[in-house]
Amino acid sequence: MSTNTTAAILPVTRAQAAEYMLLFANRRAYLRQSHFPSKKSGRFYFYKACDRKSKQPFSIDIATVHSHLAGHLTIGVYAINPESQSSKWIAIDADYADSRRDLLRFQQACREDGIEALMEQSRRGGHLWIFLAESMPAKLCRLYVLDVARRLGIAVKRDKEDGIEVFPRQSVLQPGEFGNAIRGPLGIHRASMLRYWFETAEPTLDAQFQLLRQVRRLTREHLEALTAGMAPIPDPVAAKPWTQLPAVGGHNQGFQILRHVPNAKRSGKNFITQCPACAQRGEDRNGTHLSISVAEPRMYHCWAGCSKEMIRSALGCPIPSRVWSPWTA
Ligand SMILES: [Zn+2]
Repeated sequence: MSTNTTAAILPVTRAQAAEYMLLFANRRAYLRQSHFPSKKSGRFYFYKACDRKSKQPFSIDIATVHSHLAGHLTIGVYAINPESQSSKWIAIDADYADSRRDLLRFQQACREDGIEALMEQSRRGGHLWIFLAESMPAKLCRLYVLDVARRLGIAVKRDKEDGIEVFPRQSVLQPGEFGNAIRGPLGIHRASMLRYWFETAEPTLDAQFQLLRQVRRLTREHLEALTAGMAPIPDPVAAKPWTQLPAVGGHNQGFQILRHVPNAKRSGKNFITQCPACAQRGEDRNGTHLSISVAEPRMYHCWAGCSKEMIRSALGCPIPSRVWSPWTA
C-alpha cells in the first residue's frame, strides 16, 4: 500500500518518540548513519556516536529518536539487551537479488505458524519484522527463525555468501559485545534519502504507529511452543545454508546418513546426533551438532559448520568428486 517518500522533515510528537523507544530500543547504545558516504567504501555506514570531548558514547533518548523520526538523523538499533540477553523484536534483512521473494515466503511461513510479520521496504530487498509481547531470549528467537529458514531452504548470510541476515545474530552477547544493529524503521535512509515504510499502512507516521500498535505480538508461550524440542544452536552460529543433497534420482540416492548414525534421536522435525566430522576432531562430545531432517533424511546439517564433504569422509563414504563438484562450486 505505502510507497517510499522522499526525505521531507516530518512533525513528530514526543509521545511518538517515547512509543518508538519502547518498541525498538533494546539497550542504551545505538548507532548513527553517516550523512556522507565513506571515502573508502562509498557506503553510508553506521557508527557509534560519541561525545566529542568526553569520548563517551551517546545513549539513545527521546530527543535522539525524535530527530530520527523527524528525519534530521538516522539511527541503527541493536538487537540484544546484554543484561537480559533478550530482544523486543526479531528482524530479517535480505538485500540480494530475488530477496523480496524469499522474505514473502518467510512471511507466509510465519503466518502459517500464527505469527504476524510486517514487511518494511529497504533500499534493496526489505526487512521483515516480528514484534514480541515481551523481551525474549535471543537464542529462542534465533532458534525459530533459523528453523523457518531451514524449512524454506533460505540461506543465512555467512561471510561473503548471500543470504538473509537475522537480528539478533548471536544467541548470547559476550561482555563488551554489541551484536548486530539494524537501521531503525520509519527514518530516512541516508544513501537513498528515502523513507521506507511498513507496507501495510499509509506512508504517514500516524498510520505507521497505528499499525505498530495493532500488530499481533508474538507471545512467549507461542514462541516456546513453536521451538519445543529443537536442539540449541551453538555459537559461533550456524550461518551456513542448510545442506541439500541432489534431488531423488541423483547419483547420491544410495547414501543414507541415518544408516551411519544409529544413535540419532528424534527431536521435533529433526533427528539429532553427534557430527562425525566434529567427533573426529574431538568435538561435539554431547552429540548435538548434526541435524537430519525427519521428512527428508537426505538433508542434514552440522551446526558447527562442517561441510557435507567433511561429514561423508568422516563416515568413510566420501562423496565422489563427479557428484559433488557441481553443487559445491
Ligand atoms: Zn560437525
